[in-house]
Amino acid sequence: MEIEAVNSKVDTASTITIKGILSLLVQNADENNGRRLISLGMGDPSAYSCFHTTRIAQDAVVDSLESEKFNGYAPTAGLPQTRRAIAEYLSRDLPYKLTSDDVFITSGCTQAIDVALAMLARPGANILLPRPGFPIYELCSAFRNLEVRHFNLLPQQGWEVDLDAIETLADKNTVALVIINPGNPCGNVYSYQHLKKIAETAEKLGILVIADEVYGHLAFGSRPFVPMGVFGSTVPVLTLGSLSKRWIVPGWRLGWFVTSDPSGTFRKPKVIERIKKYFDILGGPATFIQAAVPHILESTDEVFFKKTINILKQTSEICCRKIKEIPCITCTHRPEGSMAMMVRLNIDLLEDISDDIDFCFKLAKEESLVILPGTAVGLKNWLRITFAVDPSFLEEALGRLKSFCQRHTLIL
Ligand SMILES: *Cc1c(COP(=O)(O)O)cnc(C)c1O
Repeated sequence: MEIEAVNSKVDTASTITIKGILSLLVQNADENNGRRLISLGMGDPSAYSCFHTTRIAQDAVVDSLESEKFNGYAPTAGLPQTRRAIAEYLSRDLPYKLTSDDVFITSGCTQAIDVALAMLARPGANILLPRPGFPIYELCSAFRNLEVRHFNLLPQQGWEVDLDAIETLADKNTVALVIINPGNPCGNVYSYQHLKKIAETAEKLGILVIADEVYGHLAFGSRPFVPMGVFGSTVPVLTLGSLSKRWIVPGWRLGWFVTSDPSGTFRKPKVIERIKKYFDILGGPATFIQAAVPHILESTDEVFFKKTINILKQTSEICCRKIKEIPCITCTHRPEGSMAMMVRLNIDLLEDISDDIDFCFKLAKEESLVILPGTAVGLKNWLRITFAVDPSFLEEALGRLKSFCQRHTLIL
């Protein structure tokens, strides 16, 4: 069949999706043992009442809908007031001002990823992606025939980018490198100094930086969140983000693709024309959600943000404390941001478990507990734990994890 011949890369194991593997794990969970299923797999905290969006955001959407002014199409790049509001919101943390022309509205950060890769793909091109990473990038690259080259994030160095690897991997066909900060799956928050080094390395190699900042401002450790756009004068940056995580409304599908580039590399007429044409295909998120954005960005109070940060800090600490009690799992680095962390599985200490995938399938079956195997994000024999979970559920889940590990620990 024609459609099958188009792209075999899309079908290979390197393009497994998180959703795909989690649904297999859920199917495998034994509901008959009477315990309700707990998932530390997906990053959708809106399922828990302690992670509730702010009234201000809900009211803004209701008002926008009831005004009956936003039932029509929006311009494909987004409503002008929405683009302006996002430009202002992001400019608060930058040494220069973005304009509404720099901002394009997307269906969540997922579509912003697709836009970035679609704009950069050309025959023979390659892109540098982090390992561990966020598999949507691999999947999207496969559909675009964009060759993927992985650089490691270094667990001993707080999951910093291996900059030497970047220099080794890049060649004249490299178009960009991707960073995710605050990080999913690692929970890292990069320092100003590290981001500066990334910018300088990219500049030297003549490639641009795609900065996935969907967890922007969700930093609860000692380091503040610094947007990559701060270094936009050193290297052109594409900033990707959305309301999904900071406002806990992933279902609203409101994201942005932003050229953080005061030196104007993207402001060439041909480039802008190309981006605009691509947005004509996409359509973008619902107009009434777009119309609510200016009010949401201007009026959400610090109290709401603080509350989210405090719960994430608390739940990440529960994870670290409980994991310390489990000999076969090591927390190598305390998360400082986002909603996820990576922990290492010491497979040699386990009796009848061959690897992280085997571990997660048996765990789902025996304990009705779903955790993502590290293999799904590129790191074998690690686990990704999502801690954006109600604290009482999290305690229960980690208790189950501990008893599972005790039962399977090798007795010497
Ligand atoms: C959740 C997530 C996205 C997708 O965000 P949406 O706004 O829900 O599309 C993109 N990148 C990373 C790293 C994420 O964790």
